Amino acid sequence: FAINMSQLQLEDELGRGNYGTVKKVLHKPTKVYMAMKEIQLELDDSKLNGIIMELDILHRAAAPEIVDFYGAFFIESCVYYCMEYMDAGSVDKLEGDGIPEPVLGRITSSMVRGLKFLKDDMQIIHRDVKPTNVLVNSKGEVKLCDFGVSGQLERSLAKTNIGCQSYMAPERIKGESQNNIGTYTVSSDVWSLGLSMIEMALGHYPYPPETYANVFAQLTAIVHGAPPELPDDDYSDDARDFVTRCLHRVPEMRATYGELLEHPFLVRNRALDVDMVGWVASAIKLRAARQQQQQEQQKQELEQRQ
Ligand code: ATP
Ligand code: MG
Repeated sequence: FAINMSQLQLEDELGRGNYGTVKKVLHKPTKVYMAMKEIQLELDDSKLNGIIMELDILHRAAAPEIVDFYGAFFIESCVYYCMEYMDAGSVDKLEGDGIPEPVLGRITSSMVRGLKFLKDDMQIIHRDVKPTNVLVNSKGEVKLCDFGVSGQLERSLAKTNIGCQSYMAPERIKGESQNNIGTYTVSSDVWSLGLSMIEMALGHYPYPPETYANVFAQLTAIVHGAPPELPDDDYSDDARDFVTRCLHRVPEMRATYGELLEHPFLVRNRALDVDMVGWVASAIKLRAARQQQQQEQQKQELEQRQ
């Protein structure tokens, strides 16, 4: 069945990205809550049907580590894309001061299995692996979203500059600066996976903008500097080695998904009893407390200025 706007009741805004807004919606006929992403495009209407057709293969991308796709439609030059609502949101906002190793292992395991499924069963390279595209729910499930399924959609996005938080592999940054997008391979996603793991461990992006004079200096550090590592006090040698296997500057030297799934870090993690439901609940509480703290601080600053 096809979804259209008249069936949807709009609820809260869940977040905003570079290309659009994500809202929680209720699909009235089925009473299912969904997340609806609005993407504004710059193109002529003839291409819209092509995009909807390309997105249709998402119906086949059903796996426990992939966010369910419900359907897409367009109104004027916007594509509306409906997917499974993940009630704990994206992992970037659940990081706190860093995710403990057993939980990081579980999240990583889901990410690797999801990426392997996309590659082996769908012949899809994700192309946008980063913490905002790793979603969590209160059942403790971890799923990937926003993978590059439609070439036409990608070409129609209002092209913004490389953001100040790049998860792109060195070869991709180099290729982009030479206007060469052919350098992308599956191992570029493995780099982004490693970088995302470090961010989840630190609680912040591994190349903090404050330490670089400008975006150019930051990108130079990614391309030419020594790859970042997990902090050694809080993470085991296995965990650190796993990340090193992802963050190799030479793409051919990075581990494959098969190798990563057999790595001692994930093998040991599978034998552990990890309370994901409990972790999600406490991470949500911490997020709410920090949001409130931030709001109070802003209010105080505003009052002081008056
Ligand atoms: P970018 O624009 O670079 O891709 P992004 O991933 O943060 O960045 P969006 O994909 O537009 O941008 O998503 C915005 C936010 O909406 C996300 O950060 C996430 O917190 C939230 N979100 C996205 N999809 C869902 C979903 N299915 N369920 C719950 N929250 C979601
Ligand atoms: Mg996203």
